Amino acid sequence: MNEFGIIDHFFKKSSLNREDVIFGIGDDAACVQVPQGQQLLISTDTLVSGVHFLDSHSASDIAWRAVMVNISDMAAMAATPCWTTLALTTPEFDQSWFAHFSQSLQAALGQFGVALIGGDTTRGPLALTLTVFGTAPDGKAIRRSGAKVGDIIWVSGLLGAAALAVTFLNKEGLEPAERAILMDALMRPKPRTDLTPLLRQYAHAAIDISDGLTADLNHICEASGVGACLQLNAIPIHPLLKKYCSDRGFDLAVGGGDDYELCFTCSPDNTHAMLTELNAMGLTCYPVGTIEEKPGLRGIDEQGKIHEVRVCGYSHFQ
Ligand code: ADP
Ligand code: MG
Repeated sequence: MNEFGIIDHFFKKSSLNREDVIFGIGDDAACVQVPQGQQLLISTDTLVSGVHFLDSHSASDIAWRAVMVNISDMAAMAATPCWTTLALTTPEFDQSWFAHFSQSLQAALGQFGVALIGGDTTRGPLALTLTVFGTAPDGKAIRRSGAKVGDIIWVSGLLGAAALAVTFLNKEGLEPAERAILMDALMRPKPRTDLTPLLRQYAHAAIDISDGLTADLNHICEASGVGACLQLNAIPIHPLLKKYCSDRGFDLAVGGGDDYELCFTCSPDNTHAMLTELNAMGLTCYPVGTIEEKPGLRGIDEQGKIHEVRVCGYSHFQ
């Protein structure tokens, strides 16, 4: 099968139909209709073999993760993901690998109603780049730069399971069900698009936690020209971290990346209304600290003692 056969068979035929796709795969560029009163948001993420996944990971897991980490960026902006392009580089044409890859890709995109509208297919070391296009009502996209002094800092879920998976998957003593939870946390993160209406209503700033809570909260602080104080005992640490590495659990929860929960800030005036809505939706978010004027990150413990918080997280060129 040549490049054009691959594109046709594995990507074009299975792509979701959306009415707002005027034309997708097959032309030199795709054409979509952005609704009146909506703005277009664009985000790209690359996954490279040996950096973001290993050769041992299945084609399905790789495709799934690529979709989820990209859609997570839309969730962080309170944008609705609509369309995507895929640039795929593979060392060889392996029919079964492509079949699993494209099936998983389309299933993952399908969960969010996202249509694959174009891309590029090349030979080389395994890597994939997805660009996701989303929409938000005019002026409603949430940025990193909107945090205000006095805001409550929220985290949308338990932290640290993905980081634990990286270091712990091959350890003895892990029960099969726990192994599955960790593997899922790492390879099948769930983008928090369910929080989009709430963020649009209440959030001043938001980011998805891809590099670790402290690193990503620090991005919000720097972009907003503020600082933050974390309530150390309020960080929602995943129970498996408490069980298996109580000594490093906290560090993994705040410094480990790949959880793809959201960190966002809201005025304390809205806490009650937001909690009521979260409750009605059956969701739990955790207040973990406060935005302060003083730059940098600090932590306060149960005794009220202030600690310096080292900003750690993954950086490609460090
Ligand atoms: P061009 O040479 O004009 O760049 P290509 O031959 O690369 O076009 O691609 C032909 C069509 O197939 C284009 O519409 C392109 O967007 C689409 N396409 C190529 N690779 C992929 C892919 N991996 N997934 C989805 N669409 C793809
Ligand atoms: Mg062309």
